[in-house]
Amino acid sequence: MDDQQLWSFGTARLAAMRETLSGKAAELLSRQFKLYRQIKEEHAAIVADIDAASVCRDCKGQCCLNGKYRINSLDYLARLAEGIPTVADFTCKPLCPYGSENGCTMEPGLRPSDCVLFVCDEIDRKLSPQARTSLAGLEQNLRECIQDSSHLIGEEVGVPLLLWAERNSLS
Ligand code: SF4
Repeated sequence: MDDQQLWSFGTARLAAMRETLSGKAAELLSRQFKLYRQIKEEHAAIVADIDAASVCRDCKGQCCLNGKYRINSLDYLARLAEGIPTVADFTCKPLCPYGSENGCTMEPGLRPSDCVLFVCDEIDRKLSPQARTSLAGLEQNLRECIQDSSHLIGEEVGVPLLLWAERNSLS
C-alpha cells in the first residue's frame, strides 16, 4: 500500500474501533480527549507567549517539512470526536500532508502532539527557566494521557498513524 492507501485504511479502522467501544470506555475516552486538547493548548500558549510566531515566520516552518509521521492515532481520534475532518495529501511532499502552503491548518489543541511538543533551538533560547519547567510538566502529562488512552482502547495510540496502519495491514 502507498501512503494514501495506508491513510485510508488506518483512518477507517480507527473509526470502526471507536464505534465498538463500550459506553463506559467511550465516556472515559471522551474525557481523555478533553484533557489531551487542554494540555496541548496550555503548551502552545506558553510557546506563543514568547512570540514564537515571529520565529516560525522567519524560518518559514522548516520543521513542518516531511511531516507525514507527525499525526498519531490519538490525534486523529481526538479530531474525529470533535467532528473535524483530517485531510491528508501525500502528493505535496516535502510540504506536510496535513498542512497547506500557508502553514498548519489545525488549531493547537487539535494539532498532532509531536508538532505541539517540538521546540526548536531558536524558540528554546527564548524560553525562561520557569517556562521550560512548565513545558516539561505538560509534556509529561501529555505522554501520560497517551498511555492512559492506549490502555482504554487496547492499542498503542501514540504510534504514528501511518506506521500503525502499516502494522495492522500486515496482520
Ligand atoms: S500537522 Fe501542522 S504543525 Fe504538524 S508538521 Fe504538519 S503543518 Fe506542521
